[in-house]
Amino acid sequence: MEFLDAEPFRIKAVEPIKKSTRKEREQWIKEADFNVFRLRADQVYIDMLTDSGTSAMSSTQWAGIMTGDESYAGSKSFFRLEKAIQELMGFPFIQPTHQGRAADFIMSQLYAKNGGYILGNMHFDSFKGHAEIAGSTPVDLIIEEGRTANSNPHPFKGNMDIEKLKDFIATHDTREIPLIIITVTCNGNGGQPVSMENIRTVASIAKAHNIPLMIDAARFAENCYFIKQREPGYADKSIKEIVLEMFSYAEGCVMSSKKDGLVNIGGFICTRDESLFAQINQLAIINEGFVTYGGMSGRDLEALAIGLEEGVNEEYLAYRIAQVAYLGNELSKRGIPIIQPVGGHGVYVDAQKFYPHIPQSEFPGQALVVELFKTGGVRGVELGSCAFSKKDPKTGEIIFPELELVRLTVSRRVYTNRHMDVVVNSLADVYQRRNEMKGLRITYQGPIISLRHFTAKFEPIID
Ligand SMILES: *Cc1c(COP(=O)(O)O)cnc(C)c1O
Repeated sequence: MEFLDAEPFRIKAVEPIKKSTRKEREQWIKEADFNVFRLRADQVYIDMLTDSGTSAMSSTQWAGIMTGDESYAGSKSFFRLEKAIQELMGFPFIQPTHQGRAADFIMSQLYAKNGGYILGNMHFDSFKGHAEIAGSTPVDLIIEEGRTANSNPHPFKGNMDIEKLKDFIATHDTREIPLIIITVTCNGNGGQPVSMENIRTVASIAKAHNIPLMIDAARFAENCYFIKQREPGYADKSIKEIVLEMFSYAEGCVMSSKKDGLVNIGGFICTRDESLFAQINQLAIINEGFVTYGGMSGRDLEALAIGLEEGVNEEYLAYRIAQVAYLGNELSKRGIPIIQPVGGHGVYVDAQKFYPHIPQSEFPGQALVVELFKTGGVRGVELGSCAFSKKDPKTGEIIFPELELVRLTVSRRVYTNRHMDVVVNSLADVYQRRNEMKGLRITYQGPIISLRHFTAKFEPIID
């Protein structure tokens, strides 16, 4: 086995990507107003903007694209997907949606309309937004080790803080807590896993207080692989057994299939409760489409059914998690400050440690993203003073986030480790020149500060 340590697939179709010169990239990033969201994708050599909807499908999935059944009602592909999810996750009732956020919306309509607090390890933005609009307050109760950029070696930095959860419940009327959500892996802090023990404990507390527990399952397979690797008692269980146990603790789940579903679009919401399912169906019909397609085409349902199966394959997961770890280890070896341990879907560079001389008001993370693109044609994304600043509601003053990060996300089955080497060498080159680097100033931003990073324009500060 130790001699077989390479990708568990061979490549059947290739998509050419374009190499470019530094001079070209300098021109392109200038035309894009120093915001990588404004680049054209064909100007990018290695795209590490996101792992969402960027997976490569297998030959079996492509075959499924041809056999997908496009019937409006009762599509054969829906029943295939339904069966796949029932067997994998153990939920009897499944409603497809066009993306994960549509499932989030439905969940918000079921649980968030009567105010109160929705507790989670760390809620994902799309649910948070829907819950707030519906009238509830999402509360993050992640453990302290999961909050900070320190390299505390905790194996499950996505865990919910059990003491904080108990305290919160003890100091509130449980009628004010309509729902608890555990996000696996925890996207908000870098794809950090949640342990089975933590999920089990949260579930028992939730049950004792009659509060439903849902799982936000976008990266459930990666989470289960970490459980197998790191949690006592799970080394000899199969990933499928771990998946089934994990979901057994929840009333239902929401899923963005653009991640561990190994497809480019789609999502779903599951429940065990038939009367709740009737409500879900109604919401899906008005917002998504008829219950057996929910905004997806038959071919996409078919590819997802196959992708879920491939996504829990142990050899695939070993390769996947090892590739992300490889990127993290190689960056670390070159002295580049990253968040440790690395999570399941990408590596987070600590841009403030990288550029200690650039203040947050001059966007060190964004400056690093821009220089990395110029250097290696690599597109990362800033998660720092541009993406996560807030405005003080009273003074209007900008409050910068605690962390200034650049995320390098690894798409599933898309790039080889030689591509990872390009990323490492490019970032190492920027690191050598870090003292000469300067920050940026914003020249345009949209009216909503929490969305400004998508469309902002910048210019370099030259003095
Ligand atoms: C991506 C994601 C979503 C939203 O899913 P979309 O398919 O992008 O709409 C929700 N929750 C988590 C944890 C995610 O990672």
